[in-house]
Amino acid sequence: MERYGLILEKNPREIVLLRGSGCKWKRCTFCDYHLDASSDEVENTALNHRVLQRVTGQFHHLEVINSGSFPELGEATMAEIIALCKEKEIPLLHFECHYFYRNQIPALRERFAKAGVTLKIKIGVETFDADFRERVLQKGIQETDPAKIAENFNECCLLFGLTGQTVESMKRDVETGLRYFERVCINIMVENTTDVKPDQAVIAAFLKEIYPLYQENDRVDILLNNTDFGVGGEEHE
Ligand code: SF4
Repeated sequence: MERYGLILEKNPREIVLLRGSGCKWKRCTFCDYHLDASSDEVENTALNHRVLQRVTGQFHHLEVINSGSFPELGEATMAEIIALCKEKEIPLLHFECHYFYRNQIPALRERFAKAGVTLKIKIGVETFDADFRERVLQKGIQETDPAKIAENFNECCLLFGLTGQTVESMKRDVETGLRYFERVCINIMVENTTDVKPDQAVIAAFLKEIYPLYQENDRVDILLNNTDFGVGGEEHE
């Protein structure tokens, strides 16, 4: 599995896919990437060290993902990230986080601010249609108000290409995301080991009607394949 990548378009940054103890939620019906986890913190630290050593700081901007949420990364890895940001002069850093860890975000921001690093925290919302999100996707976000969901977060991920979604619902999701968050990342459903399958008609509608609207929007990342950021993939290290 590739764990280091460069994002060259829109908001250029380096990106690393680290490994932690694993997503504590694990119930999202469409997700199997929470399988990238280990309870062996020594091994995780060693693996993450090898990945972090590849960061050059060339864009002074880094995104850290871990197939879960930042609190699932070990303390040694967190300390190494802070030291790396100082050494490579990286003042802007992204982490991902599930809604149920939202109360841990202020302390994390404070910890990194002491090192001169501003954090951008990304939440996987998938859709603002709360009924679809909780009944079909089992995302685990009971809050229905997008403004409240956004309170602790800077960026959101949306998931499109699912049976039941329409051009109108997808457009509404993107517009809601842009209203309440600084940036929106759209992921298109791809075949994986779960029972949730990509709906090719919905994906075709997205490509025809939605993609052209946001393709050039600097606040919108669009991943037609979940490895488009250059990390992830089939083979585990
Ligand atoms: S989508 Fe995120 S929160 Fe949901 S199971 Fe996967 S890793 Fe966990």
